[in-house]
Amino acid sequence: MGRLAEEIRAVEAAGVEWLHLDVMDGHFVPNLSIGVPVVAGVRRHTRLFLDTHLMITDPGRYAPAFVEAGADGITFHIETAADPAGLVRQIRGLGARVGVSLNPGTPPAAIRGIVEHVDLVLVMTVWPGFGGQKFMADGLPRIAEIAGWLRPDQFLEVDGGINAKTAPAAARAGADTLVAGSAVFDGGDPVAAVRRLLAAVSTEPEAHS
Ligand code: ZN
Repeated sequence: MGRLAEEIRAVEAAGVEWLHLDVMDGHFVPNLSIGVPVVAGVRRHTRLFLDTHLMITDPGRYAPAFVEAGADGITFHIETAADPAGLVRQIRGLGARVGVSLNPGTPPAAIRGIVEHVDLVLVMTVWPGFGGQKFMADGLPRIAEIAGWLRPDQFLEVDGGINAKTAPAAARAGADTLVAGSAVFDGGDPVAAVRRLLAAVSTEPEAHS
């Protein structure tokens, strides 16, 4: 956290297209992470798309503050939403792109009713709340099922355990947007790590970083 600006510049130069910001509340997930002030700090250092993943129990309450801080996209968890369609409208009304995410234990059918109204679907391939977990390969058929529902203008993003080994399988299943945290920042050379990831998916059609 003390070198956030420097790390942002490094991955930006290495060719990442978005920054994915994991927000945890210690309630929906058993951990705490960054909040509104850190998102505002990141915004001051980059023009990259800030893809903000709210792993929190009351996304509607906090979405305005995150957009105000500079978030470009707000992704909420379907497990937290009593009125998903209303939440989609609320976030869109803030001027942000809208994403919906689902945990490994949540059937894809849970998002079927709103999928046509969102810009992005985020499939979790680990249980959210901690970095550094192993990619759950049983997420692949879920990615493929959801891919079949989406239009070309919608994003299908995968989060959890993505590295140079798992990224190609996620892309083959239909993911076009891959989130990598530990694989980029834990090895000491984020630039080389981003390049390895991009190279791993560069043979896959339509794969983005
Ligand atoms: Zn995330």
